[in-house]
Amino acid sequence: MTGLSLMLSSCGGDKTTQQAGQTVNDDFVYEVDEFADLQILRYQVPGFESLSLGQKEMIYYLSQAAIEGRDILFDQNNKYNLAIRRTLEAIYENYKGDKSTNDYKEFEVYLKRVWFSNGIHHHYGEEKFLPGFSKEFFAEQVRALPDSIILRDYWMSEGEYMSADNFIQMITPVMFDPNVMSKKVNQASGVDLIQTSANNYYGDGVSQKEVEAFYAKMKNPNDSQPIMYGMNSRLVKSGNGLKEEVWKIGGLYSPAIERIVGWLEKAKAAAENDAQKKVIDKLVSFYKTGDLKTFDEYSISWVQDSLSRIDFVNGFIESYGDPLGMKASWESIVNFKDLEATKRTEIISSNAQWFEDNSPVDPKYRKEEVKGVTAKVITAAQLGGDCYPATPIGVNLPNSNWIRKDYGSKSVTIENIMQAYDRAAEHGGFNEEFVWSQAELNLLHNYGFITDVLHTDLHEILGHGSGQLMPGVDPDALKENGSTIEESRADLFGLYYIADPKLLELGIIPDADAYKAEYYRFMMNGLMTQLTRIEAGKDVEEAHMRNRQLIARWVYEKGKADNVVEFKQRDGKTFVVINDYAKLRSLFGQLLAEIQRIKSEGDYEGGKKLVEDYAVKVDQNLHNEVLERYAKLNLKPYKGFVNPVYELVTDKDGKITDVKVSYDEGYAEQMMRYSKQHSWLPTYNW
Ligand code: ZN
Repeated sequence: MTGLSLMLSSCGGDKTTQQAGQTVNDDFVYEVDEFADLQILRYQVPGFESLSLGQKEMIYYLSQAAIEGRDILFDQNNKYNLAIRRTLEAIYENYKGDKSTNDYKEFEVYLKRVWFSNGIHHHYGEEKFLPGFSKEFFAEQVRALPDSIILRDYWMSEGEYMSADNFIQMITPVMFDPNVMSKKVNQASGVDLIQTSANNYYGDGVSQKEVEAFYAKMKNPNDSQPIMYGMNSRLVKSGNGLKEEVWKIGGLYSPAIERIVGWLEKAKAAAENDAQKKVIDKLVSFYKTGDLKTFDEYSISWVQDSLSRIDFVNGFIESYGDPLGMKASWESIVNFKDLEATKRTEIISSNAQWFEDNSPVDPKYRKEEVKGVTAKVITAAQLGGDCYPATPIGVNLPNSNWIRKDYGSKSVTIENIMQAYDRAAEHGGFNEEFVWSQAELNLLHNYGFITDVLHTDLHEILGHGSGQLMPGVDPDALKENGSTIEESRADLFGLYYIADPKLLELGIIPDADAYKAEYYRFMMNGLMTQLTRIEAGKDVEEAHMRNRQLIARWVYEKGKADNVVEFKQRDGKTFVVINDYAKLRSLFGQLLAEIQRIKSEGDYEGGKKLVEDYAVKVDQNLHNEVLERYAKLNLKPYKGFVNPVYELVTDKDGKITDVKVSYDEGYAEQMMRYSKQHSWLPTYNW
């Protein structure tokens, strides 16, 4: 499954930044909060002010729709999540005791983690995380709560609500016992994946065999346009069989879906054009009927709308939360096209032939006619559901394979989110630890982000599509080294051209020396700092990492005689130093020519030798040193975001005159506000 590509940089320090497309505010503070293994950031929405009033209004309505489904995701992740979240929030608000105790501090951390993960399981690792406060502290706080909704919502039997003691008895093992509901999504083989997963996509007692039989009966293997069976329902026992509780108006989760639809209707009234209206109509109709054919029609109209400035995802999209990959979690991203950055990708794409004709590879391996692909660059305006607070930096939808084949897909990169990651990474102390001197730090600060983004553009838009195979050469001739060689080829195309005066002439790079930032970052990463992601004693395995080491090691070795790149020591620490940037570029060009030859000729032995000689083995001493230095920085491996706050501005007659965006809401503040103003589901939905 393709879906949202979760290309999260889990390793803080790879990149540094400068704004690429839109202008961002340089004094902006990105860091909001940190706890456990998490850091909370905020992101700017550059360009929002320059949208038309209608566009701003539409974003406002869609941003509200993006918050309203939050409870759905909590309930999908585990059937006790809403009860636990609401209990913790009630304690958080009513707590009168000493806030300096360990129990209280741990309580706050746990609540923040539950908010972040949309439940009691780790958002990435899927395992249940345990409270650091005592069961006694918890029980005492629950008993101290005023007549709570958590209890009033639970109907034990005719006329009898749950007592605080009943509740404590029910919920304590769910929160505290490591063996109860220990994994949200179990992928281990040899067990019933449904019964060993703690998510709430299937009712009590439903087995994997029953689920598989239930959906096998529905599917027609000859259908060339198959709907995605089961993606919008919970499957439960009913009599001797099973039945779907469909997520729709009038079905399961109706109170939240009604709110979502209400905002979508308002957004439709503010839509930019008919294509966009049609997209919203189809989605609303799907939310009303739960009909999966309608969902496919919605996906098709969504893919076909490429002209609107504003775009959004709102619905049941990704199925990573279901071990069988059917049930889709609720999510939303509201965004608008970044015109500046998209212009950049279009300029590169429309000059594809020039780049091909001037590349340093043997003319017979070049493509006579080459076409660059364009990717849209977007600015995220609001994140919701499974995209909040942890969020992807790219989107590639829809997920339906036949729609992708017949109608295509949208692939976008979210530049303001990338920019926030990169800026925050600059503050973690990573570069200060690993970069040689102030000169390189300045380069990275001034040009690190724009050249990183440009390198990615050149890699994706031109690199992979360049060059041709000789007649009769098998495209898979390089076998197990194929993807490493292919990634190297695309990366080298980008590295070679990022230093080309052509980019200045095209107006897409700010300065003739800017490329040095990417060269330094690439060499430091490939020779040294990417080792932070590998355990001590292990080789380099992953294709992109092998590709980077292959390139960096090769140019280092080949340039040794001229001292192009060297390792220098200071205070017992190792640093990468580049002495001759121009020669480095020509080495990148030489390696590109050789790698294109290997690819074009299908030279399996040549590819294998390059990978074995340069890409796999690690200098153990350097690796240990890098790991030690990295550990001392104490960087948080996972990051997420708070949303901006949008506010309608009206005149004395109540007419909307503007939409204001502000960025000063804190993490707990935002979570509590969402829980108060955008929480519509009963505590127990079973
Ligand atoms: Zn690639």
